Amino acid sequence: VAQSHFDQLRLDLAAGRPVQAFRGEMEYWCKDGSTVWTEVMVQPVLGEHGEVIELLGATRSIAEHKRLLQELQDAKAGMERANAELLSLATTDSLTGAWNRRHFERIAATTIAQALRYQHPLSLVVFDIDRFKVVNDRYGHQVGDQVLIELTKVVGQVLRSTDILARWGGEEFVVVMAHCNESSAMQLAEKIRKEVESHPFPSVGTITISLGVAEFGPGDTLNAWFSPADQVLYDAKNSGRNAVRCASALFA
Ligand code: GH3
Ligand code: MG
Ligand code: MG
Repeated sequence: VAQSHFDQLRLDLAAGRPVQAFRGEMEYWCKDGSTVWTEVMVQPVLGEHGEVIELLGATRSIAEHKRLLQELQDAKAGMERANAELLSLATTDSLTGAWNRRHFERIAATTIAQALRYQHPLSLVVFDIDRFKVVNDRYGHQVGDQVLIELTKVVGQVLRSTDILARWGGEEFVVVMAHCNESSAMQLAEKIRKEVESHPFPSVGTITISLGVAEFGPGDTLNAWFSPADQVLYDAKNSGRNAVRCASALFA
C-alpha cells in the first residue's frame, strides 16, 4: 500500500498534479519480535519549486482498536450461531431431526391457508409404530431411540420435497402432503408402510407401522382434519396393524 502510494506521489510530482497525503494501516515489527498494527499518516511537504522537501509522518498504534473490532466480530458470530441453534431447538425434534409438533402446527396453518386460497387439495397421514413398547422392553430405550431416528430417515426418503414430516409425540408422526387428494395420499401412505415393513432396522430387525389418511375439507380446523385420521389409525391397529386406513371410510 505504502509503496504504491509513493509511486503515485512520484507520478503526481512529475505531472505537476497536487500531491496526496498517505493514510493507511501498516503492521510493524516490535523489538521483541511481535508485531503491532498502526495507522500511518504521511504528508509530503513541497518546496517552492514543487519538489518534496520532507515527509511529515505520524504513526499511532491501532492494536486496541483492531482487538476490539475482532472481539465485536467474534461476539456477532457467536450470537448468530446461538440464534441458529435456538431456532433449530424451537422448530425441530432433537432426537429425530423431524419438525416438532409446535412448528408443525405453525406450518400446517400456512399450508391450509395456501390450499384454501389456491384451491388445491391437501392431505395428511398420521402413523404410529406397532408394538413399540415391545421394542423398548426387549432391546432397551436407547435402541428404541435409534429406531425412531432410523424410521424418520426411511420415511423421509419416500417423501417428496414438499411433504412435511413432523414428530407428533412419542412414536407417532404426521406428514402433510400438499397438492395431494385422498387417493394420492393413500398411495403415498401405502408406499411408506411397505418401505418401513421391508427395512432392516439395526438390532431390531423389522418393525411395522399403522397409518391413517385424511384429506382436508373446506371449513376444517387443524383438529377437525387431524382427528379422523387419528381415529382410523386406531381402526388400523384394531384390525391387526401394519395397515393404512382412510378417514372417508368413517362417513361411508
Ligand atoms: P401399538 O401397536 O398399539 O401402538 O402398541 P405400542 O406398544 O406401540 O403402543 P403404546 O402406546 O402402548 O407404547 C408406545 C411406546 O412408545 C411407549 C413408550 O415408552 C414408547 N416411546 C414413546 N416415546 C419414545 C421415545 O422417545 N423413545 C423410546 N425409546 N420410546 C418411546
Ligand atoms: Mg405404537
Ligand atoms: Mg403411540
